[in-house]
Amino acid sequence: MIKSITDSAILNNGVKMPWLGFGVFLSPVGEETYNSVRWALDAGYRHIDTATIYENEEDVGKAIRESGVPREEIFVTTKVWNDDQRSGKVREGFDLSRKKLGMDVIDLYLVHWPVEGKFVSTYKTLEKFYQEGTVRAIGVSNFLVHHLETLLPQVEVVPAVDQVEWHPWLQLPDLYEYSRKNKIQLEAWGPLIQGQGGSIPVVVEIGEKYGKSWAQVLIRWELQREVVTIPKSNTPSRIMENADVFDFELSAEDMAAINALDEHKRVAADPDTFDF
Ligand code: NDP
Repeated sequence: MIKSITDSAILNNGVKMPWLGFGVFLSPVGEETYNSVRWALDAGYRHIDTATIYENEEDVGKAIRESGVPREEIFVTTKVWNDDQRSGKVREGFDLSRKKLGMDVIDLYLVHWPVEGKFVSTYKTLEKFYQEGTVRAIGVSNFLVHHLETLLPQVEVVPAVDQVEWHPWLQLPDLYEYSRKNKIQLEAWGPLIQGQGGSIPVVVEIGEKYGKSWAQVLIRWELQREVVTIPKSNTPSRIMENADVFDFELSAEDMAAINALDEHKRVAADPDTFDF
């Protein structure tokens, strides 16, 4: 049972990653991201998820530095962007991210998308960063089972994490089983279905029983499925609401009702057909 905002998944190399994190995709560059990360840290989040392509790594780094929370208490993820994979500038991209964040060591560095013909060599470069000690864990994002089956036999370090679109409509049962079997921690992006979770009556009704919002129900469901979750918000009340999920537990019956909502429905790009 996950009981507090600092309870952590233990990754396959022993590193601890808080089950609940804070996402900043589409969080506007500048004051809005800075303020949101400060609010999140004030609300108790100790895990922030950014990426090169979000262009807000500087704001994340500044907010962390100025928050007064010791750096070592915060788990920071960033990701190598596809253009840097295609041009072979993975190390340059990594160094720029560290510079923008103002951090020598990143907690988790991910291959953002499985760029065809590139993702294995990109990952091998991440293995070098790991060996050099500039990143505490490495992993992938948007990798389906077949991408992992291609990758694993060719690399030495099993990815610690696979961050994928994951929510009631898209539960990817094959990847869920595969990642557990191979000790790859699954992490949900779009955990609130990018804001659409309130359109699911079952989820709203379950929330009413516990006195919780639909968003809190989804986050709690993800935690109870042992999937790391990183809801995003730029709204102070929602940032606090999304962190207030440790005083209730969904019953087996309610978990099953949400598990039954899977329809293999994506709300964003497909790892097999993305064109960016
Ligand atoms: P989410 O599922 O987290 O949804 C975010 C949306 O939900 C925003 O519009 C937000 O609005 C709204 N929202 C947040 N909290 C509530 C609430 N309590 N009630 C109602 N609405 C709410 O989508 P994301 O795509 O942002 O995914 C989360 C994180 O995952 C990203 O921020 C990013 O870090 C990561 N990600 C990774 C990807 C990858 O390829 N690896 C791709 C996409 C995301 P508002 O901000 O206005 O409050």
